[in-house]
Amino acid sequence: MPELPDLVHIVKALGPEIEGRRILRAAVRNPIVLRILVPGSFPDLVAGKVLRRLERHGPFLHAGLDPGLDLVMHLMLSGRLRLAVPGEKALPATAFSFELDDGRVLYYGDEKSMGKIYLSAAGDFGSIPSYLTQGVDVTSSDFSFELFSGLIDRKRCQARVFIMDQTCLSAIGNAYADEILFEAGIHPKAPCHALSPEKRRALYDAVRSVLAWGIEEVESAARPLEDKVRSHLRVRGRAGQKCPRCGALIRKAGVLGFDSFFCPVCQPDLTGRGLDWTKLPSG
Ligand SMILES: [Zn+2]
Repeated sequence: MPELPDLVHIVKALGPEIEGRRILRAAVRNPIVLRILVPGSFPDLVAGKVLRRLERHGPFLHAGLDPGLDLVMHLMLSGRLRLAVPGEKALPATAFSFELDDGRVLYYGDEKSMGKIYLSAAGDFGSIPSYLTQGVDVTSSDFSFELFSGLIDRKRCQARVFIMDQTCLSAIGNAYADEILFEAGIHPKAPCHALSPEKRRALYDAVRSVLAWGIEEVESAARPLEDKVRSHLRVRGRAGQKCPRCGALIRKAGVLGFDSFFCPVCQPDLTGRGLDWTKLPSG
C-alpha cells in the first residue's frame, strides 16, 4: 500500500515517536517477511537495541539499531505499521512486533506477506536487492530538470514505464504514476522519445507537483498510519467515472502487466498506432 507520500508521512509521524527508544523484546508471528543478513535469531538480535532516526531511501524505510545493526523495511503493497499504546490491539496479520521501553508496541502487519524486512550489519546494504541501485530521489533538490532531461533522453520505453523505473527516478508507484501522467496530459503508453520538449517539461513538473500534492493530502488527512489515503486521487482506481477536467470516462489499460488509469481525452495517444480510447466501451 505505501507509496512515496505515505512513506514521507510515516517518517514524519512515526520517526520522532520511536527515535531513541530501546527495544525490550521482539515477537515474531510470521517469519516469511524477515531477511536476517547477520548470524543469530531476530528476537535475540534486536532485543536491547536502540532505534535511531527513521529515514526513507526510495521505497525503503530505514532505522539504525544501535549498536551494530540496521533495520531496513520494504513494505511493498501490503506492509503496515502501527505504534500502539498498552492494551491497544495488534494490527491484523501481525508479522512481528517490538515492545519498546516506554510501554508502547510497534507492530508490523502484512496481510499478503509481500513486504521484506531486512536486518543487516550497520551500513551494510549491499545484500539488499535494489537498495543501492535507486536513482535520484524525486523529492530531493538534486532532482533538477537538467538531470531529468539526461535520464529521459534517448529512452524508447513507454512514459509510464520510465517514471516507474526506480534506477532512474526513486520512487514512484502505480497510483502516483497515473496521477503524474494525468497532470502532464501524457498517455501512459506514449514512448519517451516521442514526447515534445514541452511534454518533457510538463512531465518533470508533474512529478514534482503531484508528489508534493500527494504528501500534503496524506498529511492533512491525518489518518492512522496503517490507513490507505487515496480519496484525493483523480484517475487512479476510477475507471468508468468522469474525468474531473473534461468529463470523459476514465479508462483502464494494462501497461507491462500493471493496471493503468487515464483519461483518453486529456491524455490522447498521439502515436497514431494506438487504439482510439474515446470510442471503446467503458470499463
Ligand atoms: Zn479528461
